[in-house]
Amino acid sequence: MTGFESDSCRRPRRKDDGSAVAVWTEKEFLKGKLLDAGVIILRTGGCSHFHTGGCSMCGYNTVSKMGISAEHIVKQFERALPGIGDVQVLKIYTSGSFLDKAEVPEEAARRILEECSSRGMRLLVESRPEYVTGERVDQILSVHDDLEIAIGFESANDKVLRYSINKGFTVADYDLAADILNERKVDLRSYVLIKPPFLTEAEAIADAVATVKHAARTSATISINAVNVQKGTVVDKLWRNWAYRPPWLWSVLQVVRASEDFGVKVVCDPVGGGSIRGAHNCGECDQTIIDGLKDFSISQNRSRLGSKDCSCKDMWNMILDIEGLVTGGTCDLQRFFRSQRR
Ligand SMILES: [Zn+2]
Repeated sequence: MTGFESDSCRRPRRKDDGSAVAVWTEKEFLKGKLLDAGVIILRTGGCSHFHTGGCSMCGYNTVSKMGISAEHIVKQFERALPGIGDVQVLKIYTSGSFLDKAEVPEEAARRILEECSSRGMRLLVESRPEYVTGERVDQILSVHDDLEIAIGFESANDKVLRYSINKGFTVADYDLAADILNERKVDLRSYVLIKPPFLTEAEAIADAVATVKHAARTSATISINAVNVQKGTVVDKLWRNWAYRPPWLWSVLQVVRASEDFGVKVVCDPVGGGSIRGAHNCGECDQTIIDGLKDFSISQNRSRLGSKDCSCKDMWNMILDIEGLVTGGTCDLQRFFRSQRR
């Protein structure tokens, strides 16, 4: 799971091998300050795990392409730099793992690290835990040491990782990578997923809160990511058959609020929020909650997590109570009730 998809979906995609998929700037709250951050989505050969099945909710590989070389990646990066200007933080997303040398060859990674080092830019990259080895992290730190590494942890429950997400690693694998980063004082950003498939709304909230609690021990930042229905995925197939509904924004808000107990920086910007493929409520109250989550993410001020009262909260509460009982599994009950009213 990556953090880029909402923006990449909104922006025109460049197709040639020497151009990044998307480039933009945004704000980042870091150590009490609001900083300018640049985001570059690089096109690579894709996530190693995608080539062996992939995660049930991930469709990012549509922007990957076989045959992308180190030279292509360097060209993408250098062409993107003028578009981000003078920023304090640079976020580089690929469709998989920056630390995987098969995906981002060493010479390309080195060029990017050297540029960040010379500009004094903090660099955030993503990786699956199997590539977070002491040797690889030490190599990177020898070039640039102001680093944050993000891992798509998703769930602290091995059954959810295996059967619901098909994540291809275990909680122990994540913990090992977290320890390697902590020992080297590299900040860890952990992605926590809300509502993997086959979990009811209530189970998904409990799973996400438990995952935040687990990850808070070793993470500098936790990014709470609501599942959005991406084309060509297992989740997409379930959704088309009414067997999946993306999380309610009420659920997202509840998880973010519960995360306060764990004393860690939390960010949340629901991908496709308010749309039927993203986290959504009734349509009336969605934007207020989304705006509050965004404001909170760049301020860490919990008073921004506002929500007006809305009648759909009653339906959400009812679904939390009955979904598993009446369906024996998961179902888009909101869609079912709406269809009955027609
Ligand atoms: Zn509502």
